[in-house]
Amino acid sequence: MAAGGKRALFLDCDDTLYHNGFKTAELLTVSIAQYCETHLGITYEKSVELYKQHGTCLKGLEAEHIPHDREHFLETVHRVHLDFGADARLREMLARLDHGSSEVRVFTASVASHALRCLEHLGIAEQLVTPERPIIDVKSVEFRSKHHREAFTIAQSLVRVAEPALCTLVDDNWTNIRAAKAAGWRTVVVGHVSRYGEPASGLEEADHVIGSIHELPTILPEFFVCEHAQQSAAALARAE
Ligand SMILES: [Mg+2]
Repeated sequence: MAAGGKRALFLDCDDTLYHNGFKTAELLTVSIAQYCETHLGITYEKSVELYKQHGTCLKGLEAEHIPHDREHFLETVHRVHLDFGADARLREMLARLDHGSSEVRVFTASVASHALRCLEHLGIAEQLVTPERPIIDVKSVEFRSKHHREAFTIAQSLVRVAEPALCTLVDDNWTNIRAAKAAGWRTVVVGHVSRYGEPASGLEEADHVIGSIHELPTILPEFFVCEHAQQSAAALARAE
């Protein structure tokens, strides 16, 4: 067990566990706009406006009291084509996670069904999801957006970790990183530049910046069995 209590590692799904140049994100944007047009009679421009004003289109629908079926919306808009395949290197890395001393969860702002489909495409579902370690999704955090610190406070309570400082978020989204930091979490941003081309060195709320998820053991060795053992052995050797 980690000194000071159990710690937790939260892994975002889209554009964190895989990276395809935000193609899936773009398909999701189109899917949301199509849903709004087909099912709610809302124009593309209006759906974009709702997203910009409220952080997500769904939040906008709620804020502006536009009648909609939340469950149907979430499950339908996420049924998009996934253009990526299995990642053997990531699977091998995740197989070395130390589940004995920490909680490791996928934490997505989408729905669990979409995240699970992504994990299955990557060939890593069984490494990250079990009945005891379900995906934390937008429903799990009472439909809070990851743009708000409350989502992180709820996620922390779900894994029963005592202190926010014992929680670490790995995510590509800068707004999510800022909200997690505001909640007192440790943060790792994935991607040396943001989706909009800004250098991640300018993101003050990021404790670490990595180019890809595969670099995780080098900066967070305490979450991995081999790296943690090697680190302890090195510390012992230095002490002798
Ligand atoms: Mg993401």
